[in-house]
Amino acid sequence: MSLRTDAVNHVSHFKPNSPDIKSAKITGVFGESVFTIKTAREYLSDEAYKSLVTSIKGGKKIDRTVAGQIASGMRAWAESRGVTHFTHWFQPLTGATAEKHDSFFTLKGDGTAIEEFDGATLIQQEPDASSFPNGGLRATFEARGYTAWDPSSPPFIIEIGNGKTLCIPTIFIAYTGESLDYKAPLMKAVDAVNKAAVTVCNYFDKNVNKVIPTLGWEQEYFVIDEALVNARPDLVQCGRTVFGFTPAKGQQLEDHYFGSIPERVYAFMRDFENESYKLGIPLRTRHNEVAPAQFECAPIFEEVNIAVDHNILLMDVMTRVAKRHRLVVLLHEKPFAGINGSGKHNNWSLATDTGINLLAPGKTPKTNLMFLTFFVNTIKAVHDYADILRASIASASNDFRLGANEAPPAIISVFIGDYLTKVLNDVETRVGNKFDEQDEAILKLDLHRSIPELMIDNTDRNRTSPFAFTGNKFEFRAVGSTANCGHPMTVLNTIIADTLTKFAAEVDALIEKGDKKEIAIMQVIQKYIVSSKKILFEGDGYSEAWHQEAEKRGLPNLKTTPVALDAMVTEKAKKLFKDNGIYTHSELEARHEIELEKYIKKVQIEARVMGDLATNHIIPASIKYQNELLKNVSLLREAALPEKLYKGQLTLLKDVSTHIQQVYDNVFEMVEARKVANNIVDTREKAIAYEAKVKAQYFDKIRYHVDKLEQLVDDELWTLPKYRELLFLR
Ligand code: ADP
Ligand code: MG
Repeated sequence: MSLRTDAVNHVSHFKPNSPDIKSAKITGVFGESVFTIKTAREYLSDEAYKSLVTSIKGGKKIDRTVAGQIASGMRAWAESRGVTHFTHWFQPLTGATAEKHDSFFTLKGDGTAIEEFDGATLIQQEPDASSFPNGGLRATFEARGYTAWDPSSPPFIIEIGNGKTLCIPTIFIAYTGESLDYKAPLMKAVDAVNKAAVTVCNYFDKNVNKVIPTLGWEQEYFVIDEALVNARPDLVQCGRTVFGFTPAKGQQLEDHYFGSIPERVYAFMRDFENESYKLGIPLRTRHNEVAPAQFECAPIFEEVNIAVDHNILLMDVMTRVAKRHRLVVLLHEKPFAGINGSGKHNNWSLATDTGINLLAPGKTPKTNLMFLTFFVNTIKAVHDYADILRASIASASNDFRLGANEAPPAIISVFIGDYLTKVLNDVETRVGNKFDEQDEAILKLDLHRSIPELMIDNTDRNRTSPFAFTGNKFEFRAVGSTANCGHPMTVLNTIIADTLTKFAAEVDALIEKGDKKEIAIMQVIQKYIVSSKKILFEGDGYSEAWHQEAEKRGLPNLKTTPVALDAMVTEKAKKLFKDNGIYTHSELEARHEIELEKYIKKVQIEARVMGDLATNHIIPASIKYQNELLKNVSLLREAALPEKLYKGQLTLLKDVSTHIQQVYDNVFEMVEARKVANNIVDTREKAIAYEAKVKAQYFDKIRYHVDKLEQLVDDELWTLPKYRELLFLR
């Protein structure tokens, strides 16, 4: 019996277990594994508590003695929950999170065993940085790395089986100060956008002291039976199927979307949701997605830094909890060809400390003008830095999705809906194209109060847009499902900070020349509308017509990662990130190098897996069938039957033989192409070779012949679970 038949049997006999959930109410468990401010109040002295709160709010440093008190309080709380170990939890550029567990247990000089967690250990640790990607930074700077506590994201307890570990969210940086993770730059971008946005807010409202970017992600994923996955080495090693014929019943019936959730998946969802609630992840929605076996969950939005941590944590929790249900979660952007892929829409906005959403139309002319300011600045930022935004979502796995006629295209454009298009047109075409005192009527800007409701009519069209305004926030839809949102969020907030800073400078210059404040603001807004118009697109982003139109407009359309990444290291990018204090030039170059290396490795692994599967599964199964056909034909010949009675077998034999030979030849050539690529020294050139000479040249070709064989060869002989089994058996 093959793994495949075993797996199919396993699925047929699997009885789902209901998760053991102790409280019916979410509020009963929400945040119970988090060292929240409320918990801190219980466990800390007044002094320690105050210091922690100020540092969370204002980013002020905590001194060592107070850190010691906070550490003991955290340990007391953690131990009361059965925790024995702690770890600095961080987000290195590998894409996964990293932890190195230490126990509280220690021996004193005289050999007494005690449990201890001191302030220094809370604040700083030194993981072995050499095993994390650094893009040459260490070589250049002899940069040992260390992790440093980020008090703005609360510590939490991870449970694995019966073991419990206290996780301290940290940033990961080199001794020379360069960041080696996703979190440190994000925090810098949050600061930059805060500074710029407060300045602009103060034109309208002097009470605003702080502006915080908000993020609400939507995580798409597939859920597949574990035994079936184990019988597919490609799913195990690449997270996607490199072969597989799309079944007769794909997603064309669209009966899965918002259909009822299968019982086994439902049990899994409730279980991982419950674990997420304990960790303070405010999950709100769950539903089926368009493709069979595809689902989505989304939380209530949070401050971007916390939201990013929560998304990373969620991906980890889902993966672990799935095991309890003998399921596997596939977070890959495109696990199955011919079926929708998975994204992670990033809903983004800016919130003030006075409780205003800066991307929600206001109630008075003044707040409306403030809305229009932030709205137009966002469009301008995306227009000016579309290439850098595109680079921020580039990865080997997202390449399968962007531009594949069902996900947002690789062309960055902004969707704003009919109503706001009209508003911008009105502003743009004011008489004489210039604002003066007589034009003050426009300042009484009467925006429709219910833009969010108006937007609902446009929902269908904005689905094809990579960056859509959805009534009170922008939705960056091109982010991939495996991505750490930290990187695209760093870039988005940086370009917004940069644009707002320039905006304020232009407004101030006009005011200095004697313009009234509102007139000055309106003039710059008008100018920005004109200069960024070409990024606006309301039509179907999947259509061929858009690709042509975009080319006419001069919008970049970089379909593959190795070239899309170029935008990270242009003079423009270096200036942007340096001016805003996010990355130095060497940090940018290091990151560019790391992304290219990740790309190369991913394609390399996939090419190898393809070769292995072809040689060890596809060709052997096909040869068995070829032999059966041969035997059959020769027996028929012996029996002296007229050939016209076994013409079918002969054709089959010919086809099977042709495809076997094609698979064999192409795999052989692909291995040769890989050897050539491996000898290229320059990382960018090597990545391009892997893309053009290995992936583009051979992946589809090999797959074509393999999928043909899958359709021809006796089903009993086929060893890999087929799409119909992977996608429809639960
Ligand atoms: P849908 O997109 O399905 O219509 P919603 O618009 O309610 O649903 O929300 C989608 C996501 O957008 C959710 O994760 C939600 O938390 C998030 N979201 C809503 N408002 C904001 C905001 N101001 N900032 C960031 N994210 C937001
Ligand atoms: Mg949405």
